[in-house]
Amino acid sequence: MEARLDDLRAAFSGRLLTGPDETAPFLTDWRGVWRGEAFAVVQPDTAQDVAAVVAWCARTGTPVVPQGGNTGLSGGATPDATGRAVVLSLTRLDRVRSVDPLNNTMTVEAGCILQRVQEAAAEAGRFFPLSLAAEGSCTIGGNLATNAGGTAVLRYGNARELCLGLEVVTPQGELWDGLRGLRKDNTGYDLRDLFIGAEGTLGVITAAVMKLHPAPAARVAAFAAVATPADALKLLALAQARLGAALTAFELVSDTCLGLVLKHFPGLRPPLEAPSPWYVLVEVTDLIEEARGAAALEGLLEAGFEAELVSDAAVASSIAQSQALWALRENISEAQGHEGKTVKHDISVPIPRIGGFIAEAEAALAAQFPDNRRVVFGHLGDGNLHFNLSPPEGDDGQRMVGQQEAINRLVHDIVDRYDGSISAEHGLGVLRREEAARYKSPVEIGLMRAVKQALDPQGLMNPGKVLS
Ligand SMILES: Cc1cc2nc3c(=O)[nH]c(=O)nc-3n(C[C@H](O)[C@H](O)[C@H](O)COP(=O)(O)OP(=O)(O)OC[C@H]3O[C@@H](n4cnc5c(N)ncnc54)[C@H](O)[C@@H]3O)c2cc1C
Repeated sequence: MEARLDDLRAAFSGRLLTGPDETAPFLTDWRGVWRGEAFAVVQPDTAQDVAAVVAWCARTGTPVVPQGGNTGLSGGATPDATGRAVVLSLTRLDRVRSVDPLNNTMTVEAGCILQRVQEAAAEAGRFFPLSLAAEGSCTIGGNLATNAGGTAVLRYGNARELCLGLEVVTPQGELWDGLRGLRKDNTGYDLRDLFIGAEGTLGVITAAVMKLHPAPAARVAAFAAVATPADALKLLALAQARLGAALTAFELVSDTCLGLVLKHFPGLRPPLEAPSPWYVLVEVTDLIEEARGAAALEGLLEAGFEAELVSDAAVASSIAQSQALWALRENISEAQGHEGKTVKHDISVPIPRIGGFIAEAEAALAAQFPDNRRVVFGHLGDGNLHFNLSPPEGDDGQRMVGQQEAINRLVHDIVDRYDGSISAEHGLGVLRREEAARYKSPVEIGLMRAVKQALDPQGLMNPGKVLS
């Protein structure tokens, strides 16, 4: 054991952690849902050092678990219980290598915290749109490895659509420089797209070329009451037709969600006078001036009132008010956490079918698991819902957790019938690995296995994640 550690230590420069106190934070996810063991945790300083570590692992038959900010929700960054793996933490690869405003790109290392990437873009007078509640901790490498979504996908796309090129260490420990800032490049198989969303099972991302956008002059948000998700969808269609690219977010929030946020965040105020079963949070950006953005949003809401889709609305008149409206949406997960145990589904269905899906899934849950509270919210503009459950108030949630498998099956079967996905944003990791195998065709699973076998024949890259 000591000799192997010395051998690994000599193979690269950077930190090697072995003591239980030092390694503990890397052996569990941020919520403490998954827990594992590792032979060692390494924190290389450069892409060359990452390559050296992975080459050492390939030579010695040691599994590698890449880890970024460790904010993932599917257990992908946690090693298994055998203690055989090396956890490869990328957080010291945190340099912004370059920003090119003329090409509208930036080249960043995988361990850069997402918020730092946004700030570096802003310092260059540009906008990097990927945004999620974990942005103060998650890394751009983790964002790419999970193809993260977030609140601006409707306008700018998810992590995949924001990436032009990658630098990757292969499972054999070779360094592939694919850091091309090209919008057009049809020279064979798109290797970049293979590594994005692969959750570290095909290689280690060490750097990326990301797309930048013009910095908006103004972002204006409104909170609007709608009677049903079907009405919210009609309002979305109206918004897309009227606002085009100015529409940057369209989020659905149920009254149960709003109630939880107001209960657990007493500093936040109800946005509207009367409650409504459902709300939408709409955000418009304008490249020229705030007044134009506000006028466009007010015009949409008036059209929504006239079409009897909107019964009440509040438009933010300052950045602080916009942030307060966003806080009502962004704190839902945390507020739900304060209510005890949760059962969660991160699903997507084709956008026009979302209303039908919610109605059917809610009715089925109400019939079979009537006590649990349904906590439904999400990125309506992307067809992505967080379709969650909490136990009845005052209940410790043990009964609901005991029913988790049956609840998952019920919801995922309906998702499947609606031609949807059982993991829209959070990847498969270990959490949804078996579920994915259940709903994907044997052909699709066979192709995935063939890709894994071709790139990682030793099966050492993040074993047991995505594929069993
Ligand atoms: C409060 C909260 C809100 C969230 N909201 C969203 C949201 O709106 N949308 C969304 O999509 N996700 C969301 N997430 C999930 C999570 O933040 C994202 O999945 C994020 O992209 C993970 O980044 P990370 O650096 O923390 O990756 P980690 O958790 O460290 O790793 C995630 C996966 O990527 C792999 N990986 C990490 N880095 C690399 C690398 N450099 N090369 C290869 N593989 C790598 C790991 O092995 C693992 O499989 C949220 C999480 C929290 C805690």
